[in-house]
Amino acid sequence: MTHGFCRERIMKRFKSLLVVLPLFVFFLGLVFRIPSRVPVLWFSLLVAAILFYAIASRVKKRKFFTILTLLSTGLFIAGFIEFSGLTWLHMAYIPYVLLVAVFFPPLTLLIVSLSIPFLEVRHLFYEGRLHEELSLLGFVAITSAVAFLWRQKSSIQMTRAKTADSVSDLKGKGLDKEPDDEIKDILKTVMFTVMPDAVSLFLFSGGELSVRCSTDDSVELLADGIPQEAIARRQTVVLNSVRKRNSPLGYIRRGRVSSVVASPVMDGRFVLGVLVADSRRTGAFTGADVKAVELFSNQIARVLQRQRIHAEIERSHTGLKVLHDESSRLITSLDLDSVVQNTIEGVRRIAPLSIAFFLKSDRSYELMGTHGFDPPDKRKFSLRNTVAEVALKNRQQMYVSNTRGYKLPILPFDAGSVASTLILPLFYEEEILGVVVLLSGEINPLSSYQIELLEVLCNQATISLKNAMLHAEIKRKAITDGLTGLFNHRHFQEKFNKELNRFKRFPRPFSLLLIDIDYFKKINDTYGHPAGDAVLKGVARIIKKTLRDIDVPARYGGEEFATILVGADKQEAVRTAERLRTNIMTAEFDAEGNKISVTVSVGIATCPEDAKVKEDIIDRADKALYHAKETGRNKVVAWTETLGKA
Ligand code: GH3
Ligand code: MG
Ligand code: MG
Repeated sequence: MTHGFCRERIMKRFKSLLVVLPLFVFFLGLVFRIPSRVPVLWFSLLVAAILFYAIASRVKKRKFFTILTLLSTGLFIAGFIEFSGLTWLHMAYIPYVLLVAVFFPPLTLLIVSLSIPFLEVRHLFYEGRLHEELSLLGFVAITSAVAFLWRQKSSIQMTRAKTADSVSDLKGKGLDKEPDDEIKDILKTVMFTVMPDAVSLFLFSGGELSVRCSTDDSVELLADGIPQEAIARRQTVVLNSVRKRNSPLGYIRRGRVSSVVASPVMDGRFVLGVLVADSRRTGAFTGADVKAVELFSNQIARVLQRQRIHAEIERSHTGLKVLHDESSRLITSLDLDSVVQNTIEGVRRIAPLSIAFFLKSDRSYELMGTHGFDPPDKRKFSLRNTVAEVALKNRQQMYVSNTRGYKLPILPFDAGSVASTLILPLFYEEEILGVVVLLSGEINPLSSYQIELLEVLCNQATISLKNAMLHAEIKRKAITDGLTGLFNHRHFQEKFNKELNRFKRFPRPFSLLLIDIDYFKKINDTYGHPAGDAVLKGVARIIKKTLRDIDVPARYGGEEFATILVGADKQEAVRTAERLRTNIMTAEFDAEGNKISVTVSVGIATCPEDAKVKEDIIDRADKALYHAKETGRNKVVAWTETLGKA
């Protein structure tokens, strides 16, 4: 391989020699005055050579042929001076040099300028016109120097003007929003310091390299080339002659590109993208320019790093704000259902996944609320043999980013397709209050930051739940009778008022039952007060069991109970009361080792049949009860007009 490569190089050199050889022959011809001896032959051959070099320079696009064309043109001028014998024609070198200075790079100008003394070598040494020739060469040298300086100055001015133009309409590409001013400024500075024709920043976004910002808005990235190479090698790639490269450039833009510097933009070990400066000139970038581009690419990396951190802070700020909002909502709600709904809403705002909220009730878990899937008909579940149970047993949150490979179901019911889950048990000190389960059809949908936020939110929810539970307990205690667990007298009165109000809107009958235990005093006297209490509890239990919750069974006072039978007319009320009387009569209460049986008397009044005013209804029921007592006890008496007259 190395051998082949060497041979190739030798062949290339040999070919170059062959190409230069005619020029050398013409030069020798000039030295031996051939132009004046055989002008037709010499000039026609030289013109042919000039044409050949010019065409080769155009076709091959190589500097080498351009220089040969210029040198043979110089030979033509020298030959013509020789042929014509007109000494003043030496002045022709000045426009020749000027043209070269204006249209060709400095190196070409230098070679052409250095060739002139050789063209004049004969006149210099053989014709004794040394002074004349030296002054001519001096003029030529001064002309080329002035032309060179003028060219440099105007080229800087041109570049400046162009830079200003391109910077002024610096546009972001591939981004919805304007590229950040800071990056713009950096590209601007690259334009001024390195003097390229264009500078572009290619960055990875969504795993793909794309144009982020460029001084040339015609820039388009291709699949493979110098920017990609710089990224792959993680180091700056410099190319001073694109033509010599066989592989593609990697991007296209309107202008011609001959030199490229591509420096990767790195954030630590990660490549964020690549900064590319290019120029139409061959060999446009010096070592110092490359260093400068590298410096700017580092600066861009720092800007991007800052941007990333800023975005992270912003995101965590948003997260904390959600947490703050939801926590305050949680703190302010004392109602259990609101706490559940607020928690679900807060969780949804942090992680928009499917959510199931369970509260522990005795040995099972009650599904209090869901989001993102249809809740099952059942409300109470055992979580036995589910992933949720594992988390509850371990007493800590459990994130399964991919549930594939888990044999246990996440929940005891179907909640749609599940690929991952986060289970957040709600513990208040040692007590399990419930569990929040997040479900997703995606694998690993949550960041560690989201999980952290959810944990904090659920901790807050736990405290609020406990508060709501305590509040509910206090409320319950305020309306229940401590001994029997039935509603107390005050709550009964409230319910009675409500029922009357309801009756005014929907005139549906309801009945009031007053229930009094027969000869209760005797039980107290015989077995003692605690036994009496036990009997009261037992009777209350039967009342509760026999009646519906909406019937508002209450302890009216002492050993007297009251209830409203919602929607019951007199007939139905009598039936219910009879059932209740029988149930109590047949029951046996265990009081401190004694089996005690009791009977009750019941008085009934029905609204609107007997009365429509609260006091009257109570009065009629009371009278009916009194009648029941009077006529032998252990019986149900409904109020009638005749009772009123009695
Ligand atoms: P009857 O109603 O059949 O006419 O006879 P009674 O013995 O039930 O008569 P009364 O209604 O006058 O007696 C009620 C008794 O109930 C008086 C009181 O000592 C007793 N009592 C009231 N409240 C309680 C209580 O909370 N616990 C106990 N053990 N006894 C109570
Ligand atoms: Mg009694
Ligand atoms: Mg009584």
